[in-house]
Amino acid sequence: MKVTAVSVETLELAYEEPFVIASSALTAGPCDLVRVETDEGLTGYGEACPAYEFTGDTLWTVEDVIGEYLAPATIGRDPFRIEEIVHIWERELWTVGNQAARAALEMALWDLQGKALGRPLVDLVGGRTRDGLPEVIAWGWDEPAALSAKTRAMRDEGVSIFKVKVGDTPERDEARVAAVREAAGRHARLTVDANQGWYDVATAVRAIERLEPYCIEFVEQPVRMDDLEAARRVRERVDVPIALDESVREPCHALAAVKAGAADIFVVKLMKSGGILNALKINAIAEAAAVGVMVGNMGESSLGLAAHFHLAAALSNATHCDADVPWRPGGLERDIGRGLKTELRDGASVVAIPEGPGLGIEIDCDAVTAQRVERTWHSDGQSAPAARREG
Ligand SMILES: [Mg+2]
Repeated sequence: MKVTAVSVETLELAYEEPFVIASSALTAGPCDLVRVETDEGLTGYGEACPAYEFTGDTLWTVEDVIGEYLAPATIGRDPFRIEEIVHIWERELWTVGNQAARAALEMALWDLQGKALGRPLVDLVGGRTRDGLPEVIAWGWDEPAALSAKTRAMRDEGVSIFKVKVGDTPERDEARVAAVREAAGRHARLTVDANQGWYDVATAVRAIERLEPYCIEFVEQPVRMDDLEAARRVRERVDVPIALDESVREPCHALAAVKAGAADIFVVKLMKSGGILNALKINAIAEAAAVGVMVGNMGESSLGLAAHFHLAAALSNATHCDADVPWRPGGLERDIGRGLKTELRDGASVVAIPEGPGLGIEIDCDAVTAQRVERTWHSDGQSAPAARREG
């Protein structure tokens, strides 16, 4: 099988309500839908949800990098030779950054492999170590009363893991976490994510100590992404485990974080790692260093989320996964894929791993067409930058 054509469509996927965190405030998610065709008539799909503040990628850089560099180096090649193709991207094209572009095109190659073999992606990356993922919901910087009401509604749906975005003032952080803990009940699992918002060690330590009474499972990214020494110092001074997300993008960052002793958990996301192969390498570094892994996501549609969920189901070291789904409160107004589902198991909502070949997601072409955007550029100093949602 040979790749014969690659195309990219640029979309903006509107959210039901704005999603505000320490590093961004978003009303829609950028989405590059990548389509890869082959000489055997199979079509593979991948998705980029570029996160400028993580990797510098945007909706338009993803389109350009795939169109000008990655696709020409991929057309004519066998999608089963992913290691070779990624090596060409990284070592012959000398690609710098642009992880979201690499991740999206690589995702489509994995989708093709699965479709050619008639097997779900999870079977290609190690096979299932778990049959589903407990559903998780991440709340942005909302009012405590609203968080409380939404948490109660989701608890009634069987959700028992909640992530609260913090990194605001210590008072507002505590008010939000307290509201979610009270509404979720004492048996719910709670994590918090500061998204670099606390800036320095002393602030982070004070904020975390203030949240400890609410039984926080771990804290994500308390300090700036490029300051591993600060993360190490926070980790030494608090009892809550430290997860690094923005700090750990590609395998070299995982190795640096291990050497610095800066984390208990790495958050692995395909838009940061540059794809599944690199995610597997990060997981190997983590596992060898006795560091846990949480598989996160950037708030992709069902297509990109499915790739993360297949990966999370395959990695025994990935004891956590931000298994959120796009149709919950605040999520996508119109998903572009069908195939994800949740089901109640012993009263708990679980995200099932798609059973179909490849990613197991069918593209909703009408939803794609309706949300397509063209490139225009105009700055009046007032407009918000292109939006994105991080889970
Ligand atoms: Mg995070």
